[in-house]
Amino acid sequence: MSPEKSTDLRQLPSVDEVLKLPAVQTVANEAGAKRSVELAREAIDAIREEIKENGNNGNSREELLSTAASLVEQLWRDERNVRLRKVTNATGVIVHTNLGRAPLSAAAKEALLEAAGYCTVEYDIASGRRGRRGACVEHLLTELTGAEAAIVVNNCAAAAFFVLSCFAKGRDVIVSRGELVEIGGDFRVPDVLEQSGASLREVGTTNRTKLKDYEKAIGENTGMILRVHPSNYRIVGFTESPSLSDLADLARQNDLILYEDSGSGALVDLSAYGMSDEPVIGDSIKAGVDLVSFSGDKLLGAAQAGIVVGRRDLIERLRKHPLFRALRVDKLAYTALQATLESYARQAQFSEVPVLKMLSATEEEIAERSRAFAVSLAEKAGAKLTVGIIDGESVIGGGSAPTVRRTTKLIAISKPDFSADRLEAALRKCDPPVIARIAEGKVVIDLRTITSDEESILRNAILSGITEN
Ligand SMILES: *Cc1c(COP(=O)(O)O)cnc(C)c1O
Repeated sequence: MSPEKSTDLRQLPSVDEVLKLPAVQTVANEAGAKRSVELAREAIDAIREEIKENGNNGNSREELLSTAASLVEQLWRDERNVRLRKVTNATGVIVHTNLGRAPLSAAAKEALLEAAGYCTVEYDIASGRRGRRGACVEHLLTELTGAEAAIVVNNCAAAAFFVLSCFAKGRDVIVSRGELVEIGGDFRVPDVLEQSGASLREVGTTNRTKLKDYEKAIGENTGMILRVHPSNYRIVGFTESPSLSDLADLARQNDLILYEDSGSGALVDLSAYGMSDEPVIGDSIKAGVDLVSFSGDKLLGAAQAGIVVGRRDLIERLRKHPLFRALRVDKLAYTALQATLESYARQAQFSEVPVLKMLSATEEEIAERSRAFAVSLAEKAGAKLTVGIIDGESVIGGGSAPTVRRTTKLIAISKPDFSADRLEAALRKCDPPVIARIAEGKVVIDLRTITSDEESILRNAILSGITEN
C-alpha cells in the first residue's frame, strides 16, 4: 500500500461518530440500536472499499461522515422497501395475485380495525358462553348461495384438499381430462388429489368429455365426481362437457358426491361484464352439486379464504374432521368476509365491494376520469412528461376469466430521454410505489384499479418520482 492511501484511510469515521449523526439517529429510531450499528458498519465498510479502490480525493472527515449518513439512510430505505407495504395498482389487473388480490371494502377495513382488539370470534353475547366461530359468516353464505350449510378454511387450495381428504381418501375420484388444471403455478389438481389420498380416474379427452365417459368410469371404489372450473385458461372450439345438473343426477343415482371446485366464486351473475362462463355459486347449488368451493379473495372481493358450501350432512362431517382445526381461519379473515358479505346481503355489492365496482366501471367512466387526470398531470409536470390517452384493455387476473377483457382508456406517459423501462422503474420507486404496465412502448396507467380517492396520491407520487429518480 502506498503511504498516500494509508493516510486516506485514517480519515475514516468510527462507528460511534456515524451513530451520533442526526440522520443516523432518525434511522436508529426506526431500526433499533442493534440494526443501526450494523448499518453504520456497512456504510463505513463501503467507504473504506471505495477509498482503497480509488483513493480519498481529498475528502475531509466531515465529508466522509456525510457520505456515511447518506449510505445508512439508503441502506435502510432499501431494507424497508422489502417489507409488505402499500402500493398503487395502476395495472388495471383487478385481482392481482402479486399485489394482494382483492382490495377490501371500506366497511371491511373499518370492521378489521375493530376486530383487531378483542371481539366475539367465539363468544355468544346473549348467553355469555362460548359461541361458534364463523357462525355469522356461514349464515350469510347460506343466504347468498341458497346452500344448506357453509364452512370456511384458509384458502381454496386448502378447501379442495380438505374435501378430498374427508370424502375421497382411498377412493377413486372421476375428473375430466380437460379439468386437470394447474392454477398459479403450485395448485395442480392431480397433485392435490394424490396428497389427499384419493386416486385420480381421468375420463374423456382434453376438449370433449361426455356424460357417458363419467358413467363408464364409475366402479366399486368410486367415491366422488369432481368438476374443476378451469379458471385460468379456456379450451375453445370443438368442446363438450356434461351440464352440472346431468352430473348431479348421475352422482345421485350412484350414491356419489359431486364436488365442484369453482375457484373464483362469483356470488352474483357477472355476465353483463363479460363474465358469462364464471359459475355462479347459487346456480351450482341449484343444479344439485353436493359441495362447491371457492376463494374469498378473488371475485368475491374479501380476504383470503376457502369457502365450501353445500349439503348440511357433508358440511357437518367436514366440521368434525380433525383437519378443520388445522385449516380454520382467524378472526380477521372472518371479519373481512362478514363485512363484505353484508354488502351483498343488502344488494350493495356493485357500489361497495371494490372488485365488483372496478369490474363494472364502464369505459366512459374511466375515460372521463382519465382525461381529467391527464390534464392535471400534464399541467403540473410541464415539459417533464408527455401525457396522452390511448385505448386499452383491463384484465381480471387472479387466474380468473382469462378470456375476459374490459375495454378501458389508458393514460400513456413518457419522459424525454427516458426509456419506458426506466420510467416504469422510476414509478416503482415512488412513495407509495406505483405499479404500472408498458404497452406500445409507453408506460400506461389504468384508472380501473385506482379509486378516485387515490388519484391525488398517484399524481403526487408520479410528480415526485420523475423528479427524484
Ligand atoms: C384460484 C383457484 C384455486 C386456488 O385458490 P386459492 O384461494 O388461491 O387457494 C383452486 N381452484 C380453482 C379452480 C381456482 O381458480
